[in-house]
Amino acid sequence: MLSLDSLAVHAGRSGLTEQGVHAVPIDLSTTAPLPSVHHGGQAYEQMATGGVHLEGQSTVYQRLWNPTVARFEQGVAVLEGAPEAVAFATGMAALSAVLLATVAAGKKHVVAVRPLYGGSDHVLASGVLGTEVTFATPDGVRAALRPDTGLVVVETPANPSLELVDIARLAADADGVPLLVDNTFASPVLQQPLSHGATLVLHSATKFLGGHGDAMGGVVATSPEWATRLRQVRAVTGGILTPWPAYLLHRGLATLPVRVRAQQATAHKVAAALAGHGLVKAVHYPGLPECDPLGLVGTQMSGPGSLMAFELSSAEHAERIPAEVRMITHAVSLGGIDTLIQHPAGLTHRPVAAEAKPHARLLRLSVGLEDAADIVADLVQAIERTR
Ligand code: PLP
Repeated sequence: MLSLDSLAVHAGRSGLTEQGVHAVPIDLSTTAPLPSVHHGGQAYEQMATGGVHLEGQSTVYQRLWNPTVARFEQGVAVLEGAPEAVAFATGMAALSAVLLATVAAGKKHVVAVRPLYGGSDHVLASGVLGTEVTFATPDGVRAALRPDTGLVVVETPANPSLELVDIARLAADADGVPLLVDNTFASPVLQQPLSHGATLVLHSATKFLGGHGDAMGGVVATSPEWATRLRQVRAVTGGILTPWPAYLLHRGLATLPVRVRAQQATAHKVAAALAGHGLVKAVHYPGLPECDPLGLVGTQMSGPGSLMAFELSSAEHAERIPAEVRMITHAVSLGGIDTLIQHPAGLTHRPVAAEAKPHARLLRLSVGLEDAADIVADLVQAIERTR
């Protein structure tokens, strides 16, 4: 078995030599030639009901199948240790497909552990997809289950507070109900939730998987049964990943382990510098012992990653800082090559109900590939000039 670093470079690239190419081909066809009505119709039916494209079949139509997207899916499945993966236009399209598949199976109740990304919280709290949610703490999941519970949802590390949840314990508490873990913050380099009992692993591929802030996508790594249901939802609702971003996201996988580890090493230094600054009241980073009370870094996660949040003494101070950074960019999103700062209560978590909204004193930082000293210097000048 190859190591994760080698798999990241090679997964999803089989058959290139036979095709006489070295880079993954981008197949932009929206439609494909059909050998006959009968064969085309069979292929259509097979893929529209969630089946995979079979060797020698027509791919029929890009909403049903695309070879460039399929290669990205293979890559993610391999890195997550999953039998299959299904890719979507965005992370939210991926989560929506899981929720629609849950409702379609006759189970509309979802138990969700807060905090979650603001968009995920919003789709659940609003119920627009026909789900009914109970928000729970990790300890309250078992008590929140109902006969019609079809899904348990958790994010670890959580956006934006970086809290960690014990996946194996949650899987046991879910008591047979499928557990979805949003693994966007950790990436498969640091954490593989399926090996701890999760049923579905979701990524906003827009973040670390692509890694360069230039392609959107979402992906779910899971069992063949779930993958079939998700492909069917994707085929009928049309939330497909298209070939250009699929190519970029797949290319991102090759450098994922190198980027994640380099960004993490820098984040350690940035977290330590912020924790030692007199105007910073608290730093939330899983690499700081007080932020990992369950000791999950080193067991569930191989490292703490490169996201952190920090608190100032007032909301007013926190809100002034993002406008004053010079090298760092004030922008939402995360997991890319450059450092981003944003104010969750005002932006990414704006739709979250007041009782669960992150505190307005909090800023979230996604540490990129720049030099640690430059990142710290930029943050310190912004923090001190806005005091
Ligand atoms: N999950 C997490 C943890 C996120 O941070 C995000 C986006 O920020 C999403 C899901 C949604 O992904 P997308 O923006 O690709 O729809």
